[in-house]
Amino acid sequence: MNIAFISHADCGRHDTGWNHPEHVGRLRAITRALGRDWELMLRVEHREGRHATAEELALAHDPPYIASVRTMAAQGGGRCDADTVASDGSWDAAAAGVGSVLDGIDLAVAEGRRSFCAVRPPGHHALRDHAMGFCLFGNVAIGAHYARVRHGLGRVLIADWDVHHGNGTQALVQDTEDIRFVSMHQWPWYPGTGAADDRGPKESIWNVPMAGGLRAAAYVDAFLGAVDAATANWTPDLVLLSAGFDSLNGDPLGGFTLEMADVDTLTRAMVDRAVAWCGGRLVSALEGGYAPDRVGEASVVHMRALEA
Ligand SMILES: [Zn+2]
Repeated sequence: MNIAFISHADCGRHDTGWNHPEHVGRLRAITRALGRDWELMLRVEHREGRHATAEELALAHDPPYIASVRTMAAQGGGRCDADTVASDGSWDAAAAGVGSVLDGIDLAVAEGRRSFCAVRPPGHHALRDHAMGFCLFGNVAIGAHYARVRHGLGRVLIADWDVHHGNGTQALVQDTEDIRFVSMHQWPWYPGTGAADDRGPKESIWNVPMAGGLRAAAYVDAFLGAVDAATANWTPDLVLLSAGFDSLNGDPLGGFTLEMADVDTLTRAMVDRAVAWCGGRLVSALEGGYAPDRVGEASVVHMRALEA
């Protein structure tokens, strides 16, 4: 199928300053890698996402926090958290990042079409009322609530293979029984949460903590095993992927060992499952990944596998 590649020029306007690992070069590397793959580029539909509204952001965040991000950007930016900063363009970037994921969900619901959303800032550490870990708003968590509230979907599965625990996603969805969340992450590692016995108040969370430096197949097997455990006798109506490419071998912020072939395997396995569960409705969103050329290469491998 023709998949969509969704991004927004405003995602480049979140300026994290000199020497911050989460910078616009990550997105440029993706478009560069896509540009080198003419066949794929011609097949993929390029879409400029949209800005999420404040009401949409409030599906997962407190209105005073949303307003504070807007105000901080309007005043030129500042520091939101130990490692999270905002610039004058950060409100537009964050709203466009969330809106691009929502656009992907609209497309999945309307046409059953899959998409890869190349967005920044990333989202899976953002909490209800504060920024954390390079993240301002929970792009994917908001998307899960949006799919239920605006499209009337029942069950949403979020699967997160970023090397860090998706603590923000967990916090933003764990009170909703019909959103299940699987996160595989390095342990012990930033942010320190995500123990296997932390199942959330509704037992709707599957955390898979893993040591760094294992052979790649161990991560692939553990991730898919948790996805299958989470979906035993529970069929999702939509699959959201938090595609963090900091789980690749050599990432400066992680110790996992995935290679491009593993990205292909994981993506195809999730597509196969989405086809069996819900007509193939799957929306993937970029989370981390801090070796830009590797992120670009992985994104192309990922998109090719999403076409399956
Ligand atoms: Zn990460």
